[in-house]
Amino acid sequence: VMDPEAMFKQGFLNDVYNERPVKPVVTRFPPEPNGYLHIGHAKAIAVNFGFAKYHSGRCYLRFDDTNPEAEEEVYFLSIEEMVRWLGFTPYQITHSSDNFGKLYEMAEKLIGLGKGYVCYCNEEQLKLQRGGEKSTSPRFRCEHADQIIEDNLQKFRDMRDGKYKPKEAFLRMKQDITDGNPQMWDLAAYRIKDEPHHRTGTEWKIYPTYDFTHGLCDSFESVTHSLCTTEFIQSRVSYEWLNKTLGVYEPMQREYGRLSLSGTVLSKRKLKTLVENRVVRGWDDPRLYTLIAVRRRGVPPGAILEFVNELGVTTSKTIIQITRFEQTIRRYLERTVPRLMVVLDPLPVVIEDADELEGTELTVPLSPKNPAMGDRKIKFTKTVYIDRSDFREVDSKDYFRLAPGKTVGLLQVPSPIKATSFTIDEATGRVKEVRAVFDRESKKPKTYIQWVGGQGSGSRRVEVRVYNALFKSEDPGTAEGGFLNDVNPDSETIYPDALIESGFEEVKNRAPWPEAAGENKLGKGGPESVRFQGMRVAYFAMDPDSTDEKIVLNRIVSLKEDAGK
Ligand code: ATP
Ligand code: MG
Ligand code: MG
Repeated sequence: VMDPEAMFKQGFLNDVYNERPVKPVVTRFPPEPNGYLHIGHAKAIAVNFGFAKYHSGRCYLRFDDTNPEAEEEVYFLSIEEMVRWLGFTPYQITHSSDNFGKLYEMAEKLIGLGKGYVCYCNEEQLKLQRGGEKSTSPRFRCEHADQIIEDNLQKFRDMRDGKYKPKEAFLRMKQDITDGNPQMWDLAAYRIKDEPHHRTGTEWKIYPTYDFTHGLCDSFESVTHSLCTTEFIQSRVSYEWLNKTLGVYEPMQREYGRLSLSGTVLSKRKLKTLVENRVVRGWDDPRLYTLIAVRRRGVPPGAILEFVNELGVTTSKTIIQITRFEQTIRRYLERTVPRLMVVLDPLPVVIEDADELEGTELTVPLSPKNPAMGDRKIKFTKTVYIDRSDFREVDSKDYFRLAPGKTVGLLQVPSPIKATSFTIDEATGRVKEVRAVFDRESKKPKTYIQWVGGQGSGSRRVEVRVYNALFKSEDPGTAEGGFLNDVNPDSETIYPDALIESGFEEVKNRAPWPEAAGENKLGKGGPESVRFQGMRVAYFAMDPDSTDEKIVLNRIVSLKEDAGK
């Protein structure tokens, strides 16, 4: 089982630590609360919390909430929940908005140093100043850069006091336009916004930009190693410039590669379109790769950490196929969850000579791989249910499951059975019932199939949802006609009348599985922590749509790659 603490035992980012080998290490995970986290964010969480944990340091969960338009309460709650679900505990939960007062003071200080000015230029003018469309013409500063400190201070206070409308004025940092890096071309520090902030209400009419906020909040929190993704390499120079110019504590920014999945979409805008067009049932639909969706599907948090761990933490951007993610999940579940028998499309088999065995209790291990999991009890009945796909009306030589005259083993049952006859349902034309007898003379059969006991065995009916890829192509983002056009019409198959053996009760009562997962240490696991292998079928988890009367199962992954449905 992957323990959050095991991250970094491989020495990820050792070079970064060695550049600044201090104690305590302080890091932060700084999401903007403007959407649900996705699988890529799991890497950011693992990297920041894992690095701190490995070095016995601390990691903040900092909500980077400086854009009042986009931020909502549900996202704050969900983000924190996901961090904890992955097994990490924030040292403290902070908000960039906690620092609005201090940031404002820093802005005045910057102006006082002659390193900030209030500018009235529009987008068009800014573009020209930056060398035109392609940045090929000479760069220059506007006349506002020459304003004296007192004027800038007054104008900035006017911005704060609501004397300008949005876009009429903004505060710029006076950096170095001769530098080749666009991050030094007098970036915006503060903008006017006429939106109430979810935490500070209407107190502020001006809001700091990412470039102004991020490094300063890192500094306020004494972050030692500010780990971010490689798109920010270019921003390192402005990050360093601001803290140095203001003479405050200087955290060290270093970068690692983003994690992306192919065959799906992760961007908020696209996910929103899928939800609004009812292609999926919601942001947590198990066919998506938001963390709430991956959790609902039943993927254990430890498997996600193991995935990140396997991919490693370097500066290269990794685009991984979903099948690779699934391999990790499968391998993880194989070792850590119990096994049960499930039949998706039940077909009754009456074993004619089983009268005296009716109700016999069999004690069988929950996992052949891990005896420590203990046993479960299942009852044998004269009528058992097998999967329709394990029976054929006409036998053939290369077929090794049940057919008239053919013998097959039933998992956990000592004697194999041989089909003798079958009846057809007039209405559907499908097989209605199979008759069979024990075949006590036969040698060990080639195949054993799963089965579920009939009435009185404690088995129960369940709805099973089997998911396939939501998109047809590997790169739905660039698919012809747009990503909606690339949606796979068969991304979900529902089996409304599946059956599960009585051992399910035991597995449900003892959840979460894996037993030592992070969610277990937290003393809670939702319905999705009821995980098991349906022998010969797939791995499953219980869906939150389940009630006492009706259990709903999600297929987490198939047993083998390319196992079809
Ligand atoms: P998105 O646009 O997908 O929401 P973002 O970068 O805007 O991504 P934030 O909420 O601002 O998302 O990100 C919080 C942290 O997570 C940042 O440090 C960011 O670099 C990191 N992060 C975001 N996406 C990924 C990814 N795919 N792989 C690794 N880290 C990521
Ligand atoms: Mg974001
Ligand atoms: Mg962002």
